[in-house]
Amino acid sequence: MSNNVEEKLFQNRYLLDKENTHIRIKNLDLCRTSCSQPCTFSCPAACYEKTEDGNIELMTDGCLECGTCRIICPNNNLEWSYPRGGFGISFKFG
Ligand code: SF4
Ligand code: SF4
Repeated sequence: MSNNVEEKLFQNRYLLDKENTHIRIKNLDLCRTSCSQPCTFSCPAACYEKTEDGNIELMTDGCLECGTCRIICPNNNLEWSYPRGGFGISFKFG
């Protein structure tokens, strides 16, 4: 049995809801100008990425629905909800 985190995460299944993004950044300017951008290094699924021009790109594919980004954002700059029923992550345990 493997103890590699990436391999374990890969066993989860994710159904993307293309019509509804369950996390949305309210104000992208705040991300660039008034934040040390902790979401880029605290999300376990690497959903937040800093672009070359200093902006933040959010891709919710693979989101583990852990809520870390919501708690850690110092500007309360996220609209966060769980995906609609049937969408999102399906965890494989063991
Ligand atoms: S922590 Fe919040 S305000 Fe800061 S970059 Fe991430 S989403 Fe934007
Ligand atoms: S809820 Fe967790 S996994 Fe999903 S984007 Fe936020 S920090 Fe990342």
